[in-house]
Amino acid sequence: MNKLVSLNINQLVQCYKTKSIDPKDVTKICLDLANKYKHLNCLVSVCSEQAEEKARQSSERWQKERAIGELDGVPIAIKDNFCVKGLPTTCASRMLENFVPSYNATPFDRLDDAGAVLIGKTNLDEFSMGSGAVDSIFGPTKNVWRSDEGHIAGGSSGGSAVAVATGSCFAALGSDTGGSVRNPASYCGLIGLKPTYGLVSRHGLIPLVNSMDVPAILSRSVDDCVAILNAIAGPDSKDATCIRKHYSPIEIPKADDISMKNIRIGIPREYHCNGLSKDVLDTWIKVADILEDSGANVVEVSLPNTESSIFVYTILNQSEVSSNMARYDGIEYGYRTKEWSSTEQFFAINRQIGFNSVIKNRILCGNYFLLSKNYDRYYLKALKVRRAISNDFERVFHNKDKKQNVDLILTPTTLSDAPLFTEFTQNSNRDQCAVQDFCTQAANMAGIPAVAIPIRLSDRKLPLSLQLMGPKNSEKQLLTTAKWIENQVNFPFFQFLQEK
Ligand code: GLN
Repeated sequence: MNKLVSLNINQLVQCYKTKSIDPKDVTKICLDLANKYKHLNCLVSVCSEQAEEKARQSSERWQKERAIGELDGVPIAIKDNFCVKGLPTTCASRMLENFVPSYNATPFDRLDDAGAVLIGKTNLDEFSMGSGAVDSIFGPTKNVWRSDEGHIAGGSSGGSAVAVATGSCFAALGSDTGGSVRNPASYCGLIGLKPTYGLVSRHGLIPLVNSMDVPAILSRSVDDCVAILNAIAGPDSKDATCIRKHYSPIEIPKADDISMKNIRIGIPREYHCNGLSKDVLDTWIKVADILEDSGANVVEVSLPNTESSIFVYTILNQSEVSSNMARYDGIEYGYRTKEWSSTEQFFAINRQIGFNSVIKNRILCGNYFLLSKNYDRYYLKALKVRRAISNDFERVFHNKDKKQNVDLILTPTTLSDAPLFTEFTQNSNRDQCAVQDFCTQAANMAGIPAVAIPIRLSDRKLPLSLQLMGPKNSEKQLLTTAKWIENQVNFPFFQFLQEK
């Protein structure tokens, strides 16, 4: 592994500035690493020529001291459910097999405007439905930490996670609807930020669940995550759900200047749940202790509606999925049958073959929940419980009795380290999500930001991760605390990269 890849984005850009490194060389190293780790199946398309050309342009700009932005010449990757003009955008589905968008997703546009160099598009579960990056027409993505043993990368943004973890890029975009960025971040030893709903535009992100989808970030450090967030966040007239308020770039102090004195951290008792591995529980206790020893006020809190979270998420997810998937018919792109005798049959065959069984299952369930006779009993009820779940967070973050308030909540990200493919695929996709996403889905329903932070290695030498959640728009405090934890625990990521 090349030493360059252990630089963070700010350091890399400093080196460009002083001309001690050239973007062309860094891009070449990333493309070589992408090729070296091809067998992990993290990139579904690699745009080498385009990347080399972009790097050449960036190099020229740096030579002339006219960089166009904070990410000029920084290699990145993007999940294959974001539209990138002129490049296939498949959602890892036959249904979008040959779809080439004529426009860019806003988050990609902003990275491009800041000078980032796109290396390629990354693998995912079909249409982002899953927690493993295993249900893709391109085949599963493998975890780089123990690829020989066959551990999953996590999902659905597993391709983005492995692209970052292998050094094929400095950071990557994923999407997080119920945990799809935090889950692979947890299994691959990365920072995974799901921003506040609406902070980053969804324009050009192919919808899964419009009311919960958030473009999200995978990176090797908190500082890199901040650099990407600052480039992509902020209002966008093309997304009506985007927060209209001007976004001021976040600045985070140096780790040594961050203090945990008097910060209040809540530990929700309901997250101490069935199936939580001992490794994760010990890690959670240890970090809570470190925080307390450093002056933080660590208190137990209750989020009583947590037990309904998975059910409610499932109903809302499937209902929105059934509506979002209705547009795919095989006429303009994707799988198209040659044999049909009526229009209905044409659509039916295209959808039957174009979608995998996970999607068809969710479409059927969603349509059932939305039938007029079932609507109140399932969909409307789920909306009400979703409100109760959001209110639980409101109560702990914005209690009338201010002394009861907490600033942030600390939980596990996933219940264990990365499962083996054989363990994981024994269960249905729905059962996998119920286990893998237990700690992550509530933040999407409440629209609050959450970040996964790698802490240490498990007994079987796989990453273990904790999650911090905060009130809406608390990214600055969230990432500052994440950086403090990152500095304390000193996760052996770079050591691992060097050994590879
Ligand atoms: N595992 C969840 C699902 O399949 C979350 C997916 C996501 O965040 N995109 O719905």
